[in-house]
Amino acid sequence: MEARISAAAARTGRRRDEILLIAVTKKFPAPVIREAYELGLREFGENYVQEFEVKRPELGPCPGARFHLIGHLQSNKSKKAAEIFDVVQTVDTPKLARRLNDEGRPLDVMVEVKLSAEEAKAGAAPEDVPALVEAIRGCGNLRLLGLMTMPPWSDDAEKSRPYFAQLRELAAANGLRHLSMGMSHDLETAIEEGATMVRVGTALFGPRRKD
Ligand SMILES: *Cc1c(COP(=O)(O)O)cnc(C)c1O
Repeated sequence: MEARISAAAARTGRRRDEILLIAVTKKFPAPVIREAYELGLREFGENYVQEFEVKRPELGPCPGARFHLIGHLQSNKSKKAAEIFDVVQTVDTPKLARRLNDEGRPLDVMVEVKLSAEEAKAGAAPEDVPALVEAIRGCGNLRLLGLMTMPPWSDDAEKSRPYFAQLRELAAANGLRHLSMGMSHDLETAIEEGATMVRVGTALFGPRRKD
């Protein structure tokens, strides 16, 4: 994984340390996360509040680790999410931003953007991003890091490229630094298009159980 990230960074003249590797541990039990932590990983991504709520205490203390929520967040779970996560990458409405802000603890957030017309996908429409960014900037407890997206799935990484480029342009237009984009199969393309965070599960931990 290090080799893939470094090679993609080098190809585009970027530094390796501009890119954060987020280890996506959804559906893997706490001991797997613990082992990854012992090996030196510090950024972890989880998709479900309820799942991580159970695993977090099993993990024990992890000084220096940061846990990112990368799955859709319903506003009725915002209290728990603000408690157990360090970064919520999937803020997609002003209402959700306000709920998280009202929890009263400092929290890093990102705006999830939906760049394709897929029905099933969460995220703010690109045209709604400026207003959402403004709403978040008005929330004293929230620190806005940048934008996150997940293109329609394709095993051809080149198909993701236009979405990644679009996210980069949207972030620049809104004065935002971080771009969370790229997964196991398209992280090189994402890095070439400016990703500062790649979210990698399968390529680190193998296939997830299906349920
Ligand atoms: C599961 C997931 C990932 C990781 O996907 P892999 O293909 O296993 O690397 C990244 N981002 C999000 C939002 C996910 O749900």
